[in-house]
Amino acid sequence: MNGATAVDVEKASEGRFGPDPQTVYADWDAFCAWARQAGEPDGHAVDPARLGPPAPEPRQVFAIGLNYREHAAESGHEVPTEPTVFTKFPASFTGPYGQIELPGDGRTDWEVELVAVIGRRAERVPRADAWHHVAGLTIGQDLSERVRQSRGPAPQFSLAKSFTGFSPTGPWLVTPDEFADPDDIELGCVLNGEHVQRARTRDLVFDVPEIISRLSHVLPLLPGDVIFTGTPAGVGFGRNPQRFLAPGDELVSYVTGIGEMKHSFMAAPAAG
Ligand code: ZN
Repeated sequence: MNGATAVDVEKASEGRFGPDPQTVYADWDAFCAWARQAGEPDGHAVDPARLGPPAPEPRQVFAIGLNYREHAAESGHEVPTEPTVFTKFPASFTGPYGQIELPGDGRTDWEVELVAVIGRRAERVPRADAWHHVAGLTIGQDLSERVRQSRGPAPQFSLAKSFTGFSPTGPWLVTPDEFADPDDIELGCVLNGEHVQRARTRDLVFDVPEIISRLSHVLPLLPGDVIFTGTPAGVGFGRNPQRFLAPGDELVSYVTGIGEMKHSFMAAPAAG
């Protein structure tokens, strides 16, 4: 994919790589080698509205909480000394454009994040080797329903961040070598034209190599796994007064060097 044109990988590779993007990660080295020798293919036009997530059905999804100092502070927490890890269930995944339903009784918040997709199995990986295990980077929103998140005796991060449509990613995957410095990338989001989050990944408490190294010392990270790396300051519940997403809102999420996603929000149909 390059702007508005793309290559039909299944056709161009004569069936060696299938139409499901999730399957290329299992054979990522071979896919990259094929893509390099495929040269400059004659792309065909793509309707961006039809794009789905770059890694639609990962076996594992990791998300890191409180991973920027100012966001930890606005959330009323100390800067963590150990990554705070939860998951976003894959059925909550959606593509980079479109409408997302807001739960009727909730307070849904925005969280723009850099998202990494694993390209090579990672097991007890030292920090210095971690980038080698990343297939590429994309944009993510870790949409979060703050009422359910804190309901009950212990926080419910995973469920409150997994309503239908709450995990958009895209619009495509950019390989780490495409960035001047993959450890210093700007990201942000704009709500109804107002810039509400803007940060650089050099300010991550645990950066991408550190996340991969630490997680991979607990369990293997598998090709196609998705990692939401954490959101910077500027979320709605950290504001005074607090602010949450409302029907009709439009949210543009961007990462410099990747592009942008655009979503609008609608009320959930009345129960009945
Ligand atoms: Zn988050």
